[in-house]
Amino acid sequence: MNPLLNPMTSIPLAINFFSAPKRLHRFSREKMEKYRDKAFRRVVEYAYTVPLYHKKYKAAGIHPSDIRGIRDIGKLPFVSKEDLIKNFPDGIIPAGCNKDGVHVVSTSGSSGKPLSIYTDFYTMVTAIGPFMRELNIFNLHWRKSKIAHIGNFGQNKIDGVVKRNVLSRVKLLYSSNNVLLLNAFDPIKEIINKLDDFKPDLITSYPATLQHLAYFKKKGFGKNINPQLINSGAEVLDEYTKRYVEEAFGCRVLNVYSSVEAGSDIAFECFEGTWHIHHDFFNLEAVDDEFEPVALGEKGHVVLTRLFGRGTPIIRYTGMEDWVTLSEEDCNCGLKTPSIKYGVEGRISSTVFLPDGRLFPSASFVFISSALNELKTNMVKQFQIVQRKIDEIDILLVIDHNLKEEKGPSVDALFEKIKEVYHKKVGAGVKINVKEVEEIKSSYGKPPAIVVSHVHPKEGYRLINQKI
Ligand SMILES: [Zn+2]
Repeated sequence: MNPLLNPMTSIPLAINFFSAPKRLHRFSREKMEKYRDKAFRRVVEYAYTVPLYHKKYKAAGIHPSDIRGIRDIGKLPFVSKEDLIKNFPDGIIPAGCNKDGVHVVSTSGSSGKPLSIYTDFYTMVTAIGPFMRELNIFNLHWRKSKIAHIGNFGQNKIDGVVKRNVLSRVKLLYSSNNVLLLNAFDPIKEIINKLDDFKPDLITSYPATLQHLAYFKKKGFGKNINPQLINSGAEVLDEYTKRYVEEAFGCRVLNVYSSVEAGSDIAFECFEGTWHIHHDFFNLEAVDDEFEPVALGEKGHVVLTRLFGRGTPIIRYTGMEDWVTLSEEDCNCGLKTPSIKYGVEGRISSTVFLPDGRLFPSASFVFISSALNELKTNMVKQFQIVQRKIDEIDILLVIDHNLKEEKGPSVDALFEKIKEVYHKKVGAGVKINVKEVEEIKSSYGKPPAIVVSHVHPKEGYRLINQKI
């Protein structure tokens, strides 16, 4: 049966569906704190019925009744990705749970073993809330605007699970004519033709896919693809790619921060460039290498708590591996939420460590934009920065040789400039190889990362500690 036809499910869902987007504007700070505390108590109580969490909380001497609100979050133990992997399947869902109503979603396993967790219909529908709110803020309409999402719809992939189990059932709420779901791994010309017929108001995809689309748009393909806005997620969007895509489509490109574990957008970039956290749906903490909280305004490893939903609870989860700097500064757009200063700075596994003890999160290591901006060229179709060893970095470029630029630089001049920019940043002790390649290969069912590091974070930290 369609769960929406059951009033026990559909009434609370409908209330949530329509009230969630407005909550940030409507609630005072005090009311929001109360709301978050209550949601947090509820997820902790639920987690206590899940063997992994139950065991951890017992071992730490914590009972849900000790938790009065978010301020007590520090009493709870952390949960790592390994914890979830080791305890799958029976340890990460309430004991005796009927598995008919739940679905498995998996990550692509880019760093080792893929992670699988459980979700259910209620959780997936609630998770549409942050997205509805974003549409509202971006002046788009959830029923009238045409939304194209280019993602990964494979078996057990979050996009695919939502498509099969939620979007097919919420036609009562949503007109399916206004949503187009495409696979990022389909041939690009096919994607362009479908987008051209659909004429989207909003496109959501990965930076590498957007860059690819922008390249063809600049070549004159997809005349009817003129969105009002583009959202980029799942990977760090660097300044060069952002500018390139904005130029090609003539609209803003804004970041969204989501993850499979979150099942939704955790944060989004507003028109003012602030990354607002959907803090009625999620709580973020930033901690250091010893798992001690860092002060507001300081960079740390992200720790995620999902304040809603069933299936596998996500409480004080450390497995997302992103660097964040949390802030409570006001934003000119008027939204009052905590935010991520400078945006999400990339995966810890792709952090670049230098021999002098400096560390660069991947997003802060894309200096290539400044070289390309200075030379005023668009000839780089795609690029990737690969740290081979602590003192050797490859910069791979895919060059568009067909591009006719009025006063463009030569390829050699471009290579020299990029090398110079990087040498200035990293120091003379690091070898920089700028290379032209035919294509940048992807693996793990995700478009290629912009920064890849083969230096293990452990090795990097060892070096940093030696220097301090
Ligand atoms: Zn804002």
